[in-house]
Amino acid sequence: MMNHNFSRCLLIIILIALGNYSHAASKPNIIIILADDLGYADLGIHGCKDIHTPHIDSIAKNGIRCTNGYASSPICSPSRAGLLTGRYQQRFGHEFNPVVAENNSPIFKGPQDATLPRLLKNAGYKTGMIGKWHLGTSEKFNPINQGFDEYFGFLGNANTYTNGKNINSNIVRGIKPHDEQAYLTDAFAREALAYIDKQKKDPFFLYLAFNAVHSPLQASPKHDIDIDKIPNPNRRTYASMLIAMDDAIGKLLAKLEKENLSENTLIFFISDNGGAETMNFSDNGHLKGTASTTWEGGIRVPFLVQWKAVLPKGKVYDNPVIQLDILPTVLAATGENFSHKNKLDGVNLLPYFKGENKAPPHDALYWRYGSQMAIRMGDWKLTKAPDEDFKFNREDKASADGSHLYNLKEDIGESNNLSDSNPEKVKALTEAWNQWNKELLKPTWGEQKLKAKEEN
Ligand code: CA
Repeated sequence: MMNHNFSRCLLIIILIALGNYSHAASKPNIIIILADDLGYADLGIHGCKDIHTPHIDSIAKNGIRCTNGYASSPICSPSRAGLLTGRYQQRFGHEFNPVVAENNSPIFKGPQDATLPRLLKNAGYKTGMIGKWHLGTSEKFNPINQGFDEYFGFLGNANTYTNGKNINSNIVRGIKPHDEQAYLTDAFAREALAYIDKQKKDPFFLYLAFNAVHSPLQASPKHDIDIDKIPNPNRRTYASMLIAMDDAIGKLLAKLEKENLSENTLIFFISDNGGAETMNFSDNGHLKGTASTTWEGGIRVPFLVQWKAVLPKGKVYDNPVIQLDILPTVLAATGENFSHKNKLDGVNLLPYFKGENKAPPHDALYWRYGSQMAIRMGDWKLTKAPDEDFKFNREDKASADGSHLYNLKEDIGESNNLSDSNPEKVKALTEAWNQWNKELLKPTWGEQKLKAKEEN
């Protein structure tokens, strides 16, 4: 009898252990690392020569590098609104950066309020955010009131790196002002490690949104040694800021390794938009244009994904993907069933990354940013920008109707406008974009033109 009871106890213990194991295996930790205004060509894995980014590069080496990764906006706040909803942000009026004022964050109103932190929190995840928010500055829009258990960072668009005094907002922990003395990127790394220490026993979500390498240009003094050879002093400062971020990401990855969390943590690394070259001395390489334009330089971003337990290592994925895909990919990775009131524009990328689905994830990707439009369908991209005010590098001429048509596979630099010789292609892409555009709202607030140019 005693033996029988003992066996039953043992069986129960084994079942609990198995239960815990399968629980851990089915619910990965989720980390989204967002860079700000990072140049497309400024990573080692993208061929950068003057700045070394070994830790960011390691995410590609241990996972997937998407060579046609996009953001749904060429500027900060709308890109973040798309990221956290999985939907084109113009569907709910979030087309431009909000003015830094109360109540300017329609992302968190109404039925579209199915944001990634809320969904994951409801699925039992611990949810933490560190860094730049830029989705509303009033208390009701603070991350801790929008699905995050905890928050450390700043709420506005930009912030100084070297002291606690801010350009347009304060460093806060939750809703409380925080006097930060460390270089801000280092402070974010410190907070990320502390968060993992605190939450490592449960499935967690960490949204780590660096303001690096957004202006202002403020070097991290301790990272200067490696970059002395760079001749331009502004580029040197930019390099220092980027190396500080790479170093912070290295600390985060080492922490995951140390805590045996590296295998079952799904990590994304992207930039919110393309490099703001003239503002921060970033480099988009062969890509034309910069942040705040719908040229490739404004919307094509580094897009790296690591999940060692599940995804291939060192794979290069060439079909176009977009940051809107991150939400559905994360939700699928959790193994939970989620219902959505609204149609998601993003798709779950896991079957594509694993090679189970060979088709392209999207028939087309779309952009609207004020007077600028763009659509990508297969290798073809059509873009129009009637507003001559924009700082476009117009080496080639638009056709009579303002069209620029490129085959990106052959012309990644958008230098050879094929619209006059391909009227049928222009027509088809225009019609597809018009169809999509009909589904969008008018912008809830207008474009802050000067600010948009300065603050990407
Ligand atoms: Ca940005």
